[in-house]
Amino acid sequence: MTFAVHGLPVARGIAIGRAVLVVSSRIDVAHYFIKPDEIETEIDRVRTARNAVADELTKLQASVAQMGPNDAPHELAALLEVHQMLLQDEVLSGGVKHWISERLYNAEWALTTQLEVIARQFDEMEDPYLRERKADLEQVVERMLHRMKGTAAVLAPSPPRRKRAAAHHDDEDDDPTAGDGFDVPLVLIAHDLSPADMLQFKKSVFAGFVTDVGGRTSHTAIVARSMDIPAIVGARSASQLVRQDDWVIIDGDAGVMIVDPSPIILAEYGFKQRQGDLERGRLARLRHKPAVTLDGQRVELLANIEMPEDTAGAVKAGAVGVGLFRSEFLFMGRENSARQTRLPDEEEQYQAYKRAVEGMQGMPVTIRTIDVGADKPLDGKSASKQEHLNPALGLRAIRWSLADPAMFLTQLRAILRAAAHGEIHLLIPMLAHASEIRQTLSLIDFARAELDNRGAVYGHVKLGAMIEIPAAALTLKTFLKHFDFLSIGTNDLIQYTLAIDRADEAVAHLYDPAHPAVLKLVADTITECRRQGKGVSVCGEMAGDVAFTRLLLGLGLRSFSMHPSRILAVKQEVLRADTGKLEPWAQGVLDADDPAAALAG
Ligand code: PEP
Ligand code: MG
Repeated sequence: MTFAVHGLPVARGIAIGRAVLVVSSRIDVAHYFIKPDEIETEIDRVRTARNAVADELTKLQASVAQMGPNDAPHELAALLEVHQMLLQDEVLSGGVKHWISERLYNAEWALTTQLEVIARQFDEMEDPYLRERKADLEQVVERMLHRMKGTAAVLAPSPPRRKRAAAHHDDEDDDPTAGDGFDVPLVLIAHDLSPADMLQFKKSVFAGFVTDVGGRTSHTAIVARSMDIPAIVGARSASQLVRQDDWVIIDGDAGVMIVDPSPIILAEYGFKQRQGDLERGRLARLRHKPAVTLDGQRVELLANIEMPEDTAGAVKAGAVGVGLFRSEFLFMGRENSARQTRLPDEEEQYQAYKRAVEGMQGMPVTIRTIDVGADKPLDGKSASKQEHLNPALGLRAIRWSLADPAMFLTQLRAILRAAAHGEIHLLIPMLAHASEIRQTLSLIDFARAELDNRGAVYGHVKLGAMIEIPAAALTLKTFLKHFDFLSIGTNDLIQYTLAIDRADEAVAHLYDPAHPAVLKLVADTITECRRQGKGVSVCGEMAGDVAFTRLLLGLGLRSFSMHPSRILAVKQEVLRADTGKLEPWAQGVLDADDPAAALAG
């Protein structure tokens, strides 16, 4: 039966494919694709774990049998018997084998996937006794997952070959690509994915994403957008409503997922998909065209990246530099099998920053120092430990760095050394206080002194601060005394101005980039920088949203930093703009009671 699920649009386009459901189990498990020659090893890991749990249960059964009825009630023996039966059940082992060999899931992922398939069958049972067996099955699977800990091979090997383009679903034939399992387009559906998980999936080739939670500028959404595939967040119960392997359509423009689409709907979306491809082809012709307005104003279109390897996409999209390298992604998802996080040392970071500089082939690279905390925990779990606190208002970004000077100095030394290989701008996130500015600058001096003592080679960097907190936007003079340029992080500026958690879909309707207070802070920052002859850029999602290009140009902005996938669409707006005409119009938008209406008009 066809039905639709609504969420928040994150990345544009249409994806059509089979659902890959990533379920959250009580045990945190890794999700990654294995190589075809690892299928047997993974199946063997599951078999070994099952045998070990079976032995464990047999021993328990034996000791229960020796106890008297007062020590061990009859129900306990019956329960252990049920666990043994569930463990040996063909549906469990057959399903796990299917996910490993047909979909190349790692063993833990296959096991939790099959658990979820069977659990849904239990949920649908009329008989309350049978329904309750779901909890037993979960316990059995958890025992197996515990047994499998530490037996995994290398994490995150290269993904299997999969077609990125969505296939067309022919109703006559349930699986149009049957016989070639690896070429089925896959879309990822999950309750939640941490930015670190997303980074992991970035290496694979999903055709689209849907998550139950998250706001449009949550970091999970940002990474999804950087992958340039249709994505929806905040789809509430999507992961409950979709089943493994369902055919789904993701409409990333409208924020709608259609499950089990009829042939007519498929034909309609197939058409839309082709229209999108044509539009992309048309935009691609702008790649080598300089971004200059009709009245001759040169506009700098820069890229936001998460990893040094993203520079290839940035160059391909025609970026003239990197305006925001979110360096924290180098620090994420680095847990070892004992769940300890090892941060990258100076050499590893230096090599990564150098790769980014080289990747940009002489164009400048703006490296933002680590910004973890809030919705970007270093590992997938630490955010939940702090649920009772307000992580967005807590030890995040520069606050985190200043609380751990040794870690911060390591990063600063690595960035300074990489600056010997090309133009690097050093950008500091989330500053609000003059005391933080002072501490940061003295640590930068200290890092230089350490390198001098060591006789290490390093380069000059331009220093910039992000304007992400209203307090910063209201004390620009202090910032401009110390920094060469400012970069407006509208994602956080909106969050902190409007008191809206950017990662919370429940308040996503109030997250308003066109709120007069937000626009005033953005406009004042641009004006003050220009007045003082300092560089100013916008690197939040607003910079890549074509609905705001004309307004930002009219406010005097000449430097925009965004995901590479947005550059050509924004360039098209720039090429059509006349800043002489836009300036008075932009002032009118600022003065309007309802800037959103004025923007649209
Ligand atoms: C921002 O806040 O706008 C920004 C660019 O930084 P991040 O999205 O990484 O918080
Ligand atoms: Mg920010």
